[in-house]
Amino acid sequence: MKERKIIYKAHVHMSMFPITRMRRYRRDLIRPLVQETHLHKEDLICPLFFDEAITAPLPISSMPGQYRYPASMAGKVAENLFSLGIRAVLLFGIPKQKDSLATSAYDPKGIVQCAVFEMKKTVPNMVVITDLCACEYTEHGHCGILEPEPNNKYELANDSSLTLMNTIAISHAQAGADMVAPSSMLDGVVGSIRDALDNSGYTKVCIMAYSSKFASALYGPFREAADSGYSFGDRKGYQAPVANRNEAYRESELDALEGADFLMVKPAGWSGDIISDICAFNIPVVAYQVSGEYAMIMAACEKGWLEEDVIMESLISLKRAGASLIITYFAEEVVKRITGCSHHDTNSQ
Ligand SMILES: [Zn+2]
Repeated sequence: MKERKIIYKAHVHMSMFPITRMRRYRRDLIRPLVQETHLHKEDLICPLFFDEAITAPLPISSMPGQYRYPASMAGKVAENLFSLGIRAVLLFGIPKQKDSLATSAYDPKGIVQCAVFEMKKTVPNMVVITDLCACEYTEHGHCGILEPEPNNKYELANDSSLTLMNTIAISHAQAGADMVAPSSMLDGVVGSIRDALDNSGYTKVCIMAYSSKFASALYGPFREAADSGYSFGDRKGYQAPVANRNEAYRESELDALEGADFLMVKPAGWSGDIISDICAFNIPVVAYQVSGEYAMIMAACEKGWLEEDVIMESLISLKRAGASLIITYFAEEVVKRITGCSHHDTNSQ
């Protein structure tokens, strides 16, 4: 007779081997029944770059398969993504003119404003989210207005930069954006933008806060993509230190209190703990799989060092950590995979 071990724990009893065999769940037939996490096409947000200085798509060399587009193509790009099943996009702009006050960031005829307008005109049901910052629009490449410090140094001025962010937010809302995503990590930026939008009648425009934006080396390829390198210093003065889990929690808590509708974590793949932590606020968590994560996976797949299954694995693990939505440069690739095998997963329809 087999030895039966039973452990009583609270009111639950669990049997052990040989009665319990976890491998039973892993039979081909049973495995889909017990899958805990699913990736749906509605989970995906596709980042897009629009460049004021081009008239045709321009490949981004550090991110194979990704392009900068002219604003005139925004409608066509949105149509293509929407027909595949992608419901949301995140827009970045690369202006022709940069200056110290980021004036082109709030130009009603600016690159992002034109791209948003084109998109909403062509595909009104596409959720258009705009990255809201100054770093792509300032000649120094920092995320706001600089103020002089002792020793001939300059630092990002927090409170006067908030006024700039408010102005940019309103111009994006005027162009038709459904959601703005402040990425500067300035103190008070979420509350400041919320007030500005509400006072201008844009109460329906959502805010997706870059709450846990770590000062990471994984943003390298993005700087080529968005032409947003900086002329001096770094962004460690406002982005969160990679080593600080509690600080990320607190940043998210503050953004939640200021009225953020979505909380974002980036880089996503290295922040499963943070994603999991901030689910506590009961506000949808957005994981941003950043340019460096995309570039690493693409490079390894190109070399044959990894198989492409790693793409799905990288995204499903973010869902497992607790993310509601995922911003990924693989969005188009992945939505094709999901819909290609949709008969296995009727929930995704
Ligand atoms: Zn910035």
